[in-house]
Amino acid sequence: MFIETRGNDGIKPQRVPFSFAILNPSASFGGLYIPEKLPTIDSTFLEQASHKSYKEITLDILKLFKIDIEEDVLQKAVDLYDGFDDANEPTPLVPIKNDLYVNELYHGPTRAFKDMALQPFGYILSHLAQNIDQQYLILAATSGDTGPATLDTFANKPNIKVVCLYPDGGTSDVQRLQMTTQKSKNLKILGIHGNFDDAQSALKTLLASSSFNEALTCKGIKLSAANSVNFGRIIFQIVYHVYAYIALLKQKKITLGDPFYTIVPSGNFGNALGAYYAKKMGLPIEKILIASNINNILTDLITTGKYDVRHRTLLQTTSPAMDILISSNVERVLCDKFGTTRTKELMESLKNDKVYALTREELATLREDFDAVFCDDTFAKETIKTFAQEGYVMDPHTATCLKAYETLKAKPLPCVLCSTAEWTKFAPTMLNAIKNDTLTYTDKEALEGIHQTLHVTIPASIASLFDEPIIHDDVVFKEDIEATIFDFLNLTCKDAQ
Ligand SMILES: *Cc1c(COP(=O)(O)O)cnc(C)c1O
Repeated sequence: MFIETRGNDGIKPQRVPFSFAILNPSASFGGLYIPEKLPTIDSTFLEQASHKSYKEITLDILKLFKIDIEEDVLQKAVDLYDGFDDANEPTPLVPIKNDLYVNELYHGPTRAFKDMALQPFGYILSHLAQNIDQQYLILAATSGDTGPATLDTFANKPNIKVVCLYPDGGTSDVQRLQMTTQKSKNLKILGIHGNFDDAQSALKTLLASSSFNEALTCKGIKLSAANSVNFGRIIFQIVYHVYAYIALLKQKKITLGDPFYTIVPSGNFGNALGAYYAKKMGLPIEKILIASNINNILTDLITTGKYDVRHRTLLQTTSPAMDILISSNVERVLCDKFGTTRTKELMESLKNDKVYALTREELATLREDFDAVFCDDTFAKETIKTFAQEGYVMDPHTATCLKAYETLKAKPLPCVLCSTAEWTKFAPTMLNAIKNDTLTYTDKEALEGIHQTLHVTIPASIASLFDEPIIHDDVVFKEDIEATIFDFLNLTCKDAQ
């Protein structure tokens, strides 16, 4: 069962099953759902897992959580990993030097790690919606990777419609095309004049709009969310951390019980939370090292105990998926460590005063599991170049992890670095790094340039994007979003009256 991070308001149910938590992801007082109790992964589990496939291990872990989803549905959901580059190894663990291994999490359909969770999650959500005969509208705002992965998983799925807002000019060409070439009729993609913050605030305005909500209600459509605050995504993000350990065992780099480090390039902290739960469940992670870019709010929290957005503005970097100031999933760690009363207090302080501070003892508790450091774009570019020369191509988000590898790894243990995107999604930055120039390239030019310089292949799903017709060419002002969505859903404003 699942409970709420900020306690219960007396109206919502106090304990809910998994299906409820994923269909209705917002909990009392603006909190999130967390498992009431975490199951245990012991050495017997790990030993047995070392003879199993990724899919089997996923099903075993889901089973430990005893969630209220039928086994055949879970089976079909994890079968979606068959569509990854290598069905037997959806997340290959690649040794790159000495004690450093890359957990490549981007081998799914949209070439970013969001697929790891969204592929099976989309199947389960649509199944639940069909079961209760309810139509859902999923609203998403994306800075680039969540959008394509959300659209891909829900394309042609019954009972689900998706509207996805992206900042026009604020994504890479590849990311934009992954969205605007979507053919499926249940998807609507809208460019917004403005940046990601504008897209996100437009979405929040919409969620709060009474005319919007009334129109949906009157048509029998419910709203839900597929962002990483949905526990239905987090549960699948535990698995690949466990699998990395199994891969180290299989490659005979460790023996059962040995600890290892993991480094996570973090934004909304979903990936890091998956590692935290894996560690709490018993996976021998020595420490979770959090990598940030210069939007280093997580580094501040984990090194000083202070989460302070008062004097910050969001800075643009070459790792845009980590450009974030309010990192939602931190709340789940706070609740696990300090309980619901304290979490509510901290989150209210963040909302009202834009700052909270942990006590010295609380910080020490947090640092038992985490350490953190940030990396600037110059360091990331140099890292990309150095590794490319040595034969390994990593994207700008993955590159931020090398700073943590160099500065935070206190013990000589194997170190698993989570690689969150394929280089093909950020080709202009990659070519700038490799050529050490500052020219402006289109994605197409840069993909070709890197292909020729480094002789790496561009997957067909990326190469073909440039030849596909653009289906969604709307770019709208904030004020026109609601009407455009009404159009898409065949609602007239009359419905709202
Ligand atoms: C989403 C994303 C991240 C951040 O992951 P969180 O789980 O939100 O911390 C990092 N890198 C890439 C490429 C991403 O798409």
